[in-house]
Amino acid sequence: MNPIRIQAAVKDVGGIPVARSLPAGSKRRTIGAWCFLDHAGPAQFGAEDHGMQVGLHPHTNLQTFTWMLQGEMLHQDSLGNRQTIRAKQVNLMTAGTGAARGISHTEQTPEGVKELHAVQLWIALPMDQDIEAAFENYPTLPVWTEGSIEYTVVTGTYQGHSAPTKQYSPLLGLYLDAPAGGTAQLSLQAGFEYGVLVVGGSVQIDGQTAAQDELLVFDAQTAAGSLNIELASGSRVFLLGGEPLPHPTVIWWNFVDQSKEGLMQSVADWNAGHPRFGHIDIEGSGLKRLPAPALPEGFKES
Ligand code: MN
Repeated sequence: MNPIRIQAAVKDVGGIPVARSLPAGSKRRTIGAWCFLDHAGPAQFGAEDHGMQVGLHPHTNLQTFTWMLQGEMLHQDSLGNRQTIRAKQVNLMTAGTGAARGISHTEQTPEGVKELHAVQLWIALPMDQDIEAAFENYPTLPVWTEGSIEYTVVTGTYQGHSAPTKQYSPLLGLYLDAPAGGTAQLSLQAGFEYGVLVVGGSVQIDGQTAAQDELLVFDAQTAAGSLNIELASGSRVFLLGGEPLPHPTVIWWNFVDQSKEGLMQSVADWNAGHPRFGHIDIEGSGLKRLPAPALPEGFKES
């Protein structure tokens, strides 16, 4: 079973460095419908440091999936939601599908909060489904301990444990935390592609070593049966799985679509203040409205 190995690239998001594992250029774009993997922190902020401050920006044809490990984040969106997310919770924001739908939001470290450790993932929505914009905070997820490893299902079902997280295509998100180390035999489902993202520490997966911010991707053909993972003490990994969508997924800036034309339309609509993205009053918040950059000349759909 030979996985594709991806080393995260460091990007700036709202003033702090994040490790981005997907998209990974020509190496890999998606794992099932998971299409974007960012790992922020662990970071500590000084007295004068306001942490992560992400200005007003839109999304289309995707869900933002935030899994908080430490610290807090304040989310505000154009549906009128204002939600602080805390450790071991999921925030799931759905942009809706199609050229008439979209959402906009801000994300910031609240005043006085001095730490951040989070994973933000995007899930591409199946564009053949008519999906409305929505937002939900999930404060309680299935958690159990087996051996010395704590398991949390953040989306989907694993060994009879089901997360309440709303899905539009079959997906799995399983988080493993091994403060004292341990070994896990992870069972895999037929028809799913899988990735193992190392969030901290280092692991051995079927004999291959992977360190923090490395992603190993297993295709549906190679992901048969199970994966054996040995976690060094202090290691944390994410097992992400899913069925591929029935159409291509292309990403530009904060937009997902199945075609370049759809992305171009979203850029034009956001920059023209189109009502499909709703409104948030950011007056006096210190946050800016972020303009969408135009697609580059040679933008490739695949
Ligand atoms: Mn966003």
